[in-house]
Amino acid sequence: MKELMERIENDGHVLGEGVLKVDSFVTHQVDPVLMEKIGKQFAACFADRQITKVVTIEASGIAPALFAAQHLGVPMVFARKSKSLTMNEELLTADVYSFTKQTTSTISISRKFLSAEDNVLIVDDFLANGQAAKGLIELCRQAGAHVDGIGIVIEKSFQDGRQLLEEMGLKVVSLARIDSLSDGKVTFLKEDA
Ligand code: 5GP
Repeated sequence: MKELMERIENDGHVLGEGVLKVDSFVTHQVDPVLMEKIGKQFAACFADRQITKVVTIEASGIAPALFAAQHLGVPMVFARKSKSLTMNEELLTADVYSFTKQTTSTISISRKFLSAEDNVLIVDDFLANGQAAKGLIELCRQAGAHVDGIGIVIEKSFQDGRQLLEEMGLKVVSLARIDSLSDGKVTFLKEDA
């Protein structure tokens, strides 16, 4: 997605340790116009797949997932990273190691929001080592739901996440694929859509 890559080039900041900061339009302040286009693109890529739910993880996955769900005409469910007091029903849970925070957290979704009838599109803001996506896949698996594919806003292709997901037989659609963040410079691979 050309517009997204231009935005990353103009407004993204490369931090050490292979981390890209995009807090002015994705991960803190959010550009709703760009996010809407991102969601529309995911919806177009999975339009013929009979998706019944879009699943993501709080917080930064919510914006692109919500717009994808709107364009697909289905609900969006986000996994919580901490248990809310109001979550008193049966939970699906999985442990996820966070690449950026370097801590493990237990993510959860109420069982009532995912079922064996669901065909799920997972959406997230970043794909690094694939641990967040793997945790979401695990929640879907516990519910008996089918994961149809993964939509990623920014893939860091120099990390292992895409390989991990493709080895699970999953279709991965990334709107920007970063080849390298070396020397403070972003270089891209050919994007999926
Ligand atoms: P993974 O689980 O694939 O290793 O990492 C994905 C998660 O880590 C994303 O949900 C995202 O929140 C965070 N993340 C990974 N790499 C980056 C990065 O370079 N920049 C930012 N802002 N977040 C990242």
